[in-house]
Amino acid sequence: MAYGSGRAFVAGFRALGVDADITSPSDGRTREIGSRFTSGDECYPAKVTVGDFLKVLERPDVEPAKTVFFMPTADGPCRFGQYATYLTRILESAGYAGVQVLSPTSQDAYSGLGDLARPFVRTGWRMLVSADILQKMMLKYRPREVHQGDTGRAYEESLDDLCRTAEQAPIHPPEQLRALHDSMVRARDRFRQVQVAEDSAIPQIGVVGEIFCRLHTFSNEDLVRRLEEYGAEARLSDITEWIWYTISEQFRKLRLRGRAVSLEMAGAWIRKKVQHKDEQVLLEPFAKDFRGYEEPPVDELLELARPYLPRDGAFGEMVLSIGKAVYLARHGADGIIDISPFTCMNGIVCEAIYPRLSRDLGGIPIRSFYFDGTQADLDRDLGVYMELARAYQRRKRFPRPQA
Ligand code: SF4
Repeated sequence: MAYGSGRAFVAGFRALGVDADITSPSDGRTREIGSRFTSGDECYPAKVTVGDFLKVLERPDVEPAKTVFFMPTADGPCRFGQYATYLTRILESAGYAGVQVLSPTSQDAYSGLGDLARPFVRTGWRMLVSADILQKMMLKYRPREVHQGDTGRAYEESLDDLCRTAEQAPIHPPEQLRALHDSMVRARDRFRQVQVAEDSAIPQIGVVGEIFCRLHTFSNEDLVRRLEEYGAEARLSDITEWIWYTISEQFRKLRLRGRAVSLEMAGAWIRKKVQHKDEQVLLEPFAKDFRGYEEPPVDELLELARPYLPRDGAFGEMVLSIGKAVYLARHGADGIIDISPFTCMNGIVCEAIYPRLSRDLGGIPIRSFYFDGTQADLDRDLGVYMELARAYQRRKRFPRPQA
């Protein structure tokens, strides 16, 4: 998860009475331990998450026997589904057999969480939506701020406020939602106080790709900040996009299994409606701020991807990355960057499609950046890329929607 989503998610756990904490920021030690316990065949996010978890166990105040690591799982074609099992094996071989791995899955309605399952899903969703909103505000304001650091302060204060609010608010759904909505209003007002220089010529770069590497700034060498140093604004695909995709997949699979009319389907519809309503309430204070920055429904993205990667034959981030790239290009983006871990099939498949996609969309520059912790020339490559984006900006045929 992104830093803000991780903190918000932890606050959601605490709201349910769980003594939760976020792993400390990834650093050189993360890579060192991750490399020691992985073979090199795993994808880069595996190395980073293993390193971060084992780093927690080095802390003198941490009792392994009382520690549980949270590592969700998923089915599907990618290696993420193996992470929880893999982490458990590594913990055993490192002498930490007493440490448990909590790995809830949507396949069994998160039954691994017992009585917490229902409030966990609702609270967790609200926290992730709120964290995405704060991140989006930060990415919009930071490239335009007049006084360096103002946006970062507004973001941190708003994140603290959000986490505090979640922990202190009643868990009763309507009251919790009201409290979180009020926290979002305070956040909006903080951001609106940031003095900005209006500059419609700021190139806008859509950032898509593998979910972990795209959102985890340590793993992607803080690519978004570097883009901003080159005078660009990033439109980063967020985490809720992925959750809407998994919901859409659940519907598709139920239909495929002939369960279009079933209790399971009814439950999925209700969950979707409730989540959509929560999202609307939390987004409401930002209607003006996000004009021109609207997120399309996930089914629209999947349709946009269809000519290149039909959703029935390809799963996961690759479909979303292609669909979002098309959407952003048609909505005035000046370039698309795909962030992927080295050797990740999502990035490899997308990279094969991007030349055709670029041709179809008037030559928008699309560039894949792979990460494995050994990048050397990222700044130089971004500099070259931004030249291409600026050249495209002058001749593009898709205007940006009015903000
Ligand atoms: S998407 Fe790629 S990098 Fe990410 S977990 Fe799956 S295989 Fe690994």
